[in-house]
Amino acid sequence: MAERYFSASAYYQQTFGRPVQKAVLDIGCTCPNIDGTIGTGGCIFCDGGSGHFTHSGTVTQQLAQERQRIQQHISEAGIIAYFQAHTNTYGDLHYLESCYLEALQQPDVVGIAIGTRPDCLSEEILSVLENISDKTHLTVELGLQTIHEKTARFFHRGYSFAVFQKAFAALRERKIRICVHLINGLPLEIDADMLETARGIGRLRPDAVKIHLLHILRDTPLEQLWKAGKLQPLSMQEYVQITAAQLSLLPPETVVERLTGDGASDRLMAPLWSRDKLAVRNAIARHLKQTDNWQGKYYQT
Ligand code: SF4
Repeated sequence: MAERYFSASAYYQQTFGRPVQKAVLDIGCTCPNIDGTIGTGGCIFCDGGSGHFTHSGTVTQQLAQERQRIQQHISEAGIIAYFQAHTNTYGDLHYLESCYLEALQQPDVVGIAIGTRPDCLSEEILSVLENISDKTHLTVELGLQTIHEKTARFFHRGYSFAVFQKAFAALRERKIRICVHLINGLPLEIDADMLETARGIGRLRPDAVKIHLLHILRDTPLEQLWKAGKLQPLSMQEYVQITAAQLSLLPPETVVERLTGDGASDRLMAPLWSRDKLAVRNAIARHLKQTDNWQGKYYQT
């Protein structure tokens, strides 16, 4: 195979017959881990989950700007409307549904991705999602980060792995495509923990995963820990080795939608090597080749 893992670009080409890019949207949602329902401080690394491309305005306006940005580089690109900022199934049901449907009506939109938490998937919102999934290519992106409860408690995730498993099963039952987000380099975790997370998630056979590096961002509680010397960010070599090993534990058919951090934030404090995302992706590809490793090599059902 040309690539030793199932990349998003290969999947999009296979599915849509054209390149596809994500248009990042912010529809003003908040998060139960921020608004006081579960907590107020959020996850200790949180910057709201907003990418650096996010615009303001209606869904139509934001998508128009994103389409321009994307098609400047790839004129024939299809677009996935990505509801990214905060928790995008949390809020007024009718408002959320109208935002999803508005996105679907925009030119070149071939699908929708919705970033959320597994504890924000009520029966009502699941019905809305099932409906949307019948109309288009829908992906629900669940920010899990780790299967380990101790780590999750430390970074204030606010829900247990059991809650994630229940939400995963509910989405699966409705045949909704699922992407699971993982983070490498979380406080308290050693390599074996990160590999166990990949192994555990692999067993669930998600449709897609996003593997992120832990970014230390300005004005987050994580920055305080880092400044106090209580957290050592991963080196590029460590990240490359761990991520390549995780790929070998994932099912070959799971699409790897991301292999690095999410956007070069101007608030990034560390690790600064992660700004060069292409270098990170190339280093992972090189490592896989040198070690004759590939996605799924050690996957066990
Ligand atoms: S769930 Fe997401 S939006 Fe909410 S606090 Fe955690 S990282 Fe931030």
